[in-house]
Amino acid sequence: MTALEIKHLNYRYPDGTEALHDVSLTIGEGERVGLIGPNGAGKSTLFLHLNGLLPERSSAAPAVHVFGTPVVEPHLSTIRSQVGLLFQDPDDQLFCPTVGEDVAFGPQQLGLGEAALSARVARALEQVGLRGFEQRPPFHLSRGEKRRACLAGLLACDARLLILDEPTSDLDPRGRRELKALLRDLPVTQLIATHDLELVVEICPRVIVLDHGIVVSEGQTTDILSDESLMLQHGLEKPHILRHTHPH
Ligand code: ADP
Repeated sequence: MTALEIKHLNYRYPDGTEALHDVSLTIGEGERVGLIGPNGAGKSTLFLHLNGLLPERSSAAPAVHVFGTPVVEPHLSTIRSQVGLLFQDPDDQLFCPTVGEDVAFGPQQLGLGEAALSARVARALEQVGLRGFEQRPPFHLSRGEKRRACLAGLLACDARLLILDEPTSDLDPRGRRELKALLRDLPVTQLIATHDLELVVEICPRVIVLDHGIVVSEGQTTDILSDESLMLQHGLEKPHILRHTHPH
């Protein structure tokens, strides 16, 4: 099944800035895909289109479909329950006095009973390696733990497509290692925007390169990231981890 399908998406901000130009891409269910490109490439703008924060106005021929559902007005609540957006700064996503309340916040809207809700919270915390963290105040957690708590909140809502914005930024090596292992083992479709190209090499078999709002390249990660001239042309560089391999 197709998790995400975008066909000829264009977007211009009200001030006239063209942020996305004829973007088309497809992500299959269960895929983990990297989204790379310089600052200002349009990654955040693209993300805002995936969970309906910037819904298309005309529904005549919607450009974005998530699990077959068009991302337009009548379907936004379905879309938002399926698409989990992990913000770049976990402090923007955690706002309750305890981790348990934060993780419960999303699924609470689904009208679950008390027992089902706490079972979901416990399951999601277990999935991200934060078992027993229910009573901890989020502001006492490390940055990596905060990110994992945010991820638990998305998993507790049964998100089927995770959109991750710079998930490893500001993490120390251990936090990064833990998050990488977690994402690699999560059986949920993921689109990961990042400047951490080693992360892309390590956990994303496929990568999409965006620049000036245009998909300039996509394909197998090792092929794309080994293409030194392509990478330089788009403000990126071949990661050290691929230094020993040669493009064919
Ligand atoms: P990225 O996430 O890849 O850094 P963005 O999606 O934030 O890129 O930005 C894409 C383009 O849109 C850039 O040229 C940026 O300056 C512009 N842009 C972003 N947000 C706005 C806004 N609210 N109003 C006008 N232009 C914007």
